[in-house]
Amino acid sequence: MLLISGNVVCVKPFSLAVATCALAVPISGCTDSASNGNDSLTVAVAFYPIEEIVRSVGDDSIEVITLVPPGTEAHEYEPTAKQFTRLETADIVFFLGSGFQPNLEKAIDSLPSSVRRVDLINYVSLLTNDEGVDPHVWLNPNNMQLLAHVVASTLSEELPAQSSTFDTNEATYAAKIVALDAEFTRGLTNCAVPVLITTHEAFAYLAKAYGLTQLAIAGISPGDEPSAQSLEKIAELATANGVTTVFFEENLPPDLARTVADEIGAETSSLGTAETLTQNQLDAGESYSSIMRANLQALRAAMGCT
Ligand SMILES: [Zn+2]
Repeated sequence: MLLISGNVVCVKPFSLAVATCALAVPISGCTDSASNGNDSLTVAVAFYPIEEIVRSVGDDSIEVITLVPPGTEAHEYEPTAKQFTRLETADIVFFLGSGFQPNLEKAIDSLPSSVRRVDLINYVSLLTNDEGVDPHVWLNPNNMQLLAHVVASTLSEELPAQSSTFDTNEATYAAKIVALDAEFTRGLTNCAVPVLITTHEAFAYLAKAYGLTQLAIAGISPGDEPSAQSLEKIAELATANGVTTVFFEENLPPDLARTVADEIGAETSSLGTAETLTQNQLDAGESYSSIMRANLQALRAAMGCT
């Protein structure tokens, strides 16, 4: 089911009227703190894709605090006491709500009103599944572009003097994402088996954007355990569709994928969610785009795309 969130007006190009935003996102407190004369901002970001957006759109005036440390699982993340103390002094926190990081959401709820809270899930069209809203919106590159616009608009409201820099940076970042989206569209148009079987139910947005069907072995959170019944059902569907590869998430053990793959005589392969990047990946210059390009290659190989 496709849910259109009621506040897409907030992402119209070149305007993010304070009044509109306050209406659409009551908890974010769209206050205009520009009047306090700040010429820099401390911006907390919940996890990697948002960090990349804020670093790309922002400039030297933005100090970024990334909450989920490199290589750490993002769903179950809970801020330490020290991180919470830093979070309390931030000007803005960008996060994704709707149960993606329940412990962090609780912590954010208890922040003082001086911290502007921007729940980015309010700005994209949402997909739901048996567990409710699917939070993995960033795995559709088009959503990354929408989120970059929300970030640029928010930063511009807080630091109006820098707004042309933020706009320019947003355009540069958006151009990279548009190119990535075009590669996906081209690369996944003609596939023999457009079915994606994955352990962690994270790829619905990607699947929907490019006409693939996602069958997930486990749930939204990587810690979810599938039942024997659901494993059996997935194996049946895989066989019926001629699936030759079962995907696992690269930062998780591939056991579940192997169980199903063995049952149907298929291979396993990995996909990255970019939920978290390891320090090694960051040091090697990996990014959202590089991880998504690796995903595209893996998908094309598995699905027999020409
Ligand atoms: Zn996830």
